[in-house]
Amino acid sequence: MLGVFKQDDSLGRRLVVILKGFPCSWGRCTFCPFALEQSFNLREVMETNRKIVKEAIEIAENEGYERVAVFNGSSFHELLYDTVERLRPLARNRIFEIEERSEYVTKESIDALLNYYSPRRLVIRVGFEVFDEGIREELLRKGMPNSEVFRLARLRKELREMSYPVEFLIYVLFGIEYIPEEKVIESVRKFKELFDGVIAVRYRKYLPNHPREVPVSRELASFLNAEADLVDWGGEQWEFPTRKRKGSK
Ligand code: SF4
Repeated sequence: MLGVFKQDDSLGRRLVVILKGFPCSWGRCTFCPFALEQSFNLREVMETNRKIVKEAIEIAENEGYERVAVFNGSSFHELLYDTVERLRPLARNRIFEIEERSEYVTKESIDALLNYYSPRRLVIRVGFEVFDEGIREELLRKGMPNSEVFRLARLRKELREMSYPVEFLIYVLFGIEYIPEEKVIESVRKFKELFDGVIAVRYRKYLPNHPREVPVSRELASFLNAEADLVDWGGEQWEFPTRKRKGSK
């Protein structure tokens, strides 16, 4: 769903801006639904995003949003320059959150983003999905081996030592046939040790050739509610009290 959405949850009060993208340059993950909203049409992508960004700037300014998350169904670095440029007033002096494939995340690319956007803090979400490399690479086909997990963990440590205003949040997928619950739990624990937090995402099957959804046990639901920084249930109703993440408003 494209557009501008107001959210207030464990990550705090924020504006979520969902832009139209070109198809992801990787495009091979076996569970990926994002192609459904992507387009090859340059004019359509550019004009849709101009409208969405304009609306987001108005809402952020009029309603005092201090955190803005921008998603485009692939990596931030694959957005059109026209969109990249229009996002500047939205990012400046705010907590600015983006999604990237790991190969776009380097010290140089982070320096460039911080210089260009001057955010108060830059939050980078990366979809490693599961800590087990065999599942990630052979079944999910993410194209992000453990060498990338540990490269980013080292980069995060280096940036923290230099007091960079940068945070890494890692997606963990659950409720999908390929990832047993104990591997979900392992992933949350390992990624929390290596990065700043975890966002757990309930898998939804959108296309017939995608993996099956599987039920989620009450035990896993309670674990995720207690341990993940945010749980995206994808519409499923589990009743847990909202818990604010440390540092969120
Ligand atoms: S990296 Fe993300 S957008 Fe690209 S194919 Fe995989 S899940 Fe889809």
